[in-house]
Amino acid sequence: MEFQDYYEVLGVARDAAPEAVKKAYRRLSLKWHPDQHKEEDREAAEKKFHSISEAYEVLSDPEKRAKYDRFGKDWEHGQEFQPGPGGSPGGGRPMSAEEFEQAFGGGGGFSSFFQQMFGDDMRQEFGGRPQQHARYQHRGADAQAELRLGITDALQGGKRNFTLPARASCPTCGGTGFARGHVCPSCGGVGQTAKEQTVELKIPEKVRDGLKLRLKGLGDPGPGGAEGEPGDLHLIIRLVDDSTYTLRGSTLEANVPIAPWEAIAGARIDVRTGQGVVSLNVPATTRSGKRLRLRGQGLAQATGGPGDLEVVLGIDLPKDLTERQRELIQEAGAAGEPTVRGGARTGETS
Ligand SMILES: [Zn+2]
Repeated sequence: MEFQDYYEVLGVARDAAPEAVKKAYRRLSLKWHPDQHKEEDREAAEKKFHSISEAYEVLSDPEKRAKYDRFGKDWEHGQEFQPGPGGSPGGGRPMSAEEFEQAFGGGGGFSSFFQQMFGDDMRQEFGGRPQQHARYQHRGADAQAELRLGITDALQGGKRNFTLPARASCPTCGGTGFARGHVCPSCGGVGQTAKEQTVELKIPEKVRDGLKLRLKGLGDPGPGGAEGEPGDLHLIIRLVDDSTYTLRGSTLEANVPIAPWEAIAGARIDVRTGQGVVSLNVPATTRSGKRLRLRGQGLAQATGGPGDLEVVLGIDLPKDLTERQRELIQEAGAAGEPTVRGGARTGETS
């Protein structure tokens, strides 16, 4: 368990007056509030915010501060921190981290050092259900998330359910960050905890890589829990290549299998493009790897109209060949040159 130097966290002297402690806390909690930081820095900011809130919780309370000053010294002499006699007002042992989480609804914003030292005090003061009182009424922060979507799924469109990381109003303090005049120990005063949310999304018709969607009300919860207005979720769609489609710049490449007889006689086949399903003419005597470029049938582009689709034909066999189809193909082999020569098969260089 790591000793927390609360004076250092708030940047105040050991004999700082209550006013100075309050001032330092105000300044630092504004600076490090997670809402003030971009998505990528948010976790680090939240950590910092938690330790600032924890330090203030202790140093703003004369009793806690006195207790901390007493036992903090022991720690500095290199001993493992142990709350001594009188350290637990209830007379019992200090709560474990798990017990603390159970009592305060989980999440665990405060350090194990704090929980060991003040767990019992907090349990007594918090008692039963937290009070639900909204202090702030403004809107929650907008959140940003990336949604990775296979190109086949994107082209098929329709509605789909996605699970995205999200933030929920803290159940212990009801989103206020404070309970009974104390900084909430579950969320460390942020008023929010991490969770996952399932979002039903209709895939937009002009879906493309990097498309930004704004989902109203699906961002961070409003301060004050259910009464605050939630922010919006900015969702960025990231298209991912799959076994059928590959994105190469503005060109969408599609692997399309055809049967040997379609390759020989030619055929009309249906192909799903970026603009719907089109009927495509496969010329007679087509070989594997043949490319057909369909102008304007690719995906929507950030600038201008849709890109192109390039169909790459490959000869394959149907999953379930009938006995008759097998016989006929074998017969074809027996009726002339039995194999295809070329490439590495010949053993010669050409
Ligand atoms: Zn809370």
